Amino acid sequence: MMPLRRFAIHRPADLGEAAEMLDHYGDTGTLYAGGTELLLAMRHDLLRYEHLIDIKAVAGLDSIEARDGHIHIGAGATHRTIERSPVVRELLPVMARMEAEVANVRVRAAGTLGGNLCFAEPHSDPATLLLALGGTARAQGKGGERTLAMDELLAGAYENSLSRDEVLTGVNVPVPGPTQRAAYLKFQVHERPLLGLALVLDLNEDGSEIRAARCAVGCVSPTPCRSEAAERLIAGPAAAAGERLQQAADTLADEAALTDDREGSAEYKRHLIGVLLRRAAGKCLDANE
Ligand SMILES: Cc1cc2nc3c(=O)[nH]c(=O)nc-3n(C[C@H](O)[C@H](O)[C@H](O)COP(=O)(O)OP(=O)(O)OC[C@H]3O[C@@H](n4cnc5c(N)ncnc54)[C@H](O)[C@@H]3O)c2cc1C
Repeated sequence: MMPLRRFAIHRPADLGEAAEMLDHYGDTGTLYAGGTELLLAMRHDLLRYEHLIDIKAVAGLDSIEARDGHIHIGAGATHRTIERSPVVRELLPVMARMEAEVANVRVRAAGTLGGNLCFAEPHSDPATLLLALGGTARAQGKGGERTLAMDELLAGAYENSLSRDEVLTGVNVPVPGPTQRAAYLKFQVHERPLLGLALVLDLNEDGSEIRAARCAVGCVSPTPCRSEAAERLIAGPAAAAGERLQQAADTLADEAALTDDREGSAEYKRHLIGVLLRRAAGKCLDANE
């Protein structure tokens, strides 16, 4: 690892000033939150910036609140804060559980949700779950505020679609209704997940019928992949879901365009999608979960 090159740290008072700074410093500046990705990449000389715009102290950027049927999670909230948030634990326990399994406690204590989503490292967890939950992202720049669908925010591996002067301010996640169940499962051998799978089922009153499903797989393509064709296959009687889940897993694997890489062969990843989808469905359908 290389010693860090010299850089200046700037602390904007608010998001307006952060946007001005981003515009002013252009390619020589970038946002800095927990620094767990950014400083590592700078140490390896993969990224070079002279100006880091530290948004950790911007008021309200780390807030978490339930409002209008949604949980609003600020981009500056750390994984640890989300994992321990009473609001998230009560209304979106699947998110709290996913966050508790991100990295290790040191990374979780510093790393933020916004940094995770904006760095867009394909081997990550939150984007896959947020895609299945129907979460949206909020961004603010010199031109004002806008909302982006999760798959709009993620532009590719290590690429987001924010403009030069925009800051991701947070995500809005619809609070699942009483008939909805969600699960996120991942398989991991090394430091980062090899494959993550999120499933949300909408069940009828007695749980015998899957009325609708949303599913997404992450880590196996540049950005997480959601398959509406797979979701249509999952819907139907819960007791006879086995065969449909296998077909859905194959459809999801096809749409994710799996490839052989150092994490494993495409065939291996296809097998894992089948295993994790069945387990996730089991969790959603188990009344005791
Ligand atoms: C050892 C290790 C293990 C890990 N394991 C996992 C894992 O199992 N699962 C997983 O999902 N992740 C994992 N991660 C990734 C971790 O979640 C991220 O490092 C962390 O969330 C990044 O947040 P940060 O605040 O540190 O971002 P920073 O490093 O501060 O920033 C990252 C990038 O995002 C930009 N950025 C930051 N905030 C914003 C914003 N609000 N708006 C616009 N751009 C912004 C920065 O300019 C920078 O380009 C791991 C990381 C490490 C180091």
